Amino acid sequence: MTAPAQVGPSPSGGGPAVSLSPRQLEVLQHIAAGLTGPEIAHAMHLAVGTVHYHQQVILTVLKARNLTNAVFLACRAGVLDGRPRRHGDHAGFAAHVYRGEEPCEACQVGERAYRAERREARKRNAA
Ligand SMILES: [Zn+2]
Repeated sequence: MTAPAQVGPSPSGGGPAVSLSPRQLEVLQHIAAGLTGPEIAHAMHLAVGTVHYHQQVILTVLKARNLTNAVFLACRAGVLDGRPRRHGDHAGFAAHVYRGEEPCEACQVGERAYRAERREARKRNAA
């Protein structure tokens, strides 16, 4: 379970905090990648109408004039960095921290495994 992306005003003086669900964020990432509505529907196993609904919510939440504007606003707000989200390892954990989010369960588990592995490596090197 991933928490919605919570983002406050950008340091350069953006708008109010925005909150997109993981679903909406995924739709936006596909839009940013240049996919059409039907292509996004296919990729996410959704009806085209459902994708259209998510797009309308995205426009409302981001107060965007159109989807191109939504991609720009999301980038500026830091909720869309153009890179695919990865979860469940140290890199995913670090990305959550970088975005100012509470790391998700999978990333916390991955980070614990990473730290345990590092401890073991230090012990091996010390021996
Ligand atoms: Zn995560």
